[in-house]
Amino acid sequence: MGAKIIDGKQVAASIRQRLKEEVAELAKKGVTPGLATVLVGEDPASQVYVRMKEKACGEIGIISKGIRPPADIPQEELIAQLEELNRDPAIHGILVQLPLPKHLNTAEVLKHVSPEKDVDGFHPLNLGKLLSAKYWDELPKFVPCTPAGVIKLIDSTGVEIEGKQAVVVGRSIIVGKPVAMLLLARQATVTMCHSRTKDLGAVTREADILVVAAGVPRLIKGEMIKPGAVVIDVGVNRLEEGLVGDVDFDQAKEVAGYLTPVPGGVGPMTITMLLANTVRAAREAAGL
Ligand code: NDP
Repeated sequence: MGAKIIDGKQVAASIRQRLKEEVAELAKKGVTPGLATVLVGEDPASQVYVRMKEKACGEIGIISKGIRPPADIPQEELIAQLEELNRDPAIHGILVQLPLPKHLNTAEVLKHVSPEKDVDGFHPLNLGKLLSAKYWDELPKFVPCTPAGVIKLIDSTGVEIEGKQAVVVGRSIIVGKPVAMLLLARQATVTMCHSRTKDLGAVTREADILVVAAGVPRLIKGEMIKPGAVVIDVGVNRLEEGLVGDVDFDQAKEVAGYLTPVPGGVGPMTITMLLANTVRAAREAAGL
């Protein structure tokens, strides 16, 4: 029996439609959500990502303001620009596109985004709240976008998360760790794997819910998946043949119950959650 394919584009489109309506409601109250997109330097991949984010903002009525410091900007100057955005009442969300050039200390820079405008959820205060939340309603206002999108995709299947065995492959601060914290807050039993995990397949085969964010093309083979599992493939690997995920799609679809494709799975959700966070920031800044 083939897995049901989770259509990330469709889930994203329905959330974006709701957000568009919310933005129209806010406009009637004189509030236009504003997102600052800070892109340091001219990394081509980052330029593509930021353009996609700005386009998505425009489509639902969020104003985006591009900030484009040169690659060699001194750290204090970048921080001064962030502080200025923190004070700007027309800006509700601040996105610092990562990775930053090597001479900049990412953790230090991100500390200077106001936690109230931290729509990527990377400020240490928001990450700390994520770590300390035992229950879903204790989560910070902003959680990182890709992990938030992963949970929405699992929810779109109708499969209950509470009480399930969940396995997360990858422990980055951008994806793996926050995903694990969110699954814990939804009462799953969570196991994390990484590059030193011995016998990865033995662990992943136990997973009712398997989230893979390793950046290794087709790492997860069919025999590493529990029959009927929900499999969320976060990986994006650019090979000559095109984009492939961290899960061997052709094999996984014969075993899994639900499976995200790459592209068209997690990708569209990441930007959607950024939009959702920006709209929320604007609504709350206006006290609505
Ligand atoms: P990182 O490189 O920061 O982290 C990768 C993680 O995977 C590390 O924890 C690493 O372990 C682990 N890992 C690597 N190889 C193996 C292995 N053979 N077995 C088990 N674990 C392994 O990557 P990110 O978390 O930033 O991204 C992961 C993937 O998700 C990438 O393909 C990225 O492009 C994609 N991505 C997609 C997004 C989207 O919107 N669709 C957004 C963000 C990322 P260790 O810690 O031991 O090194």
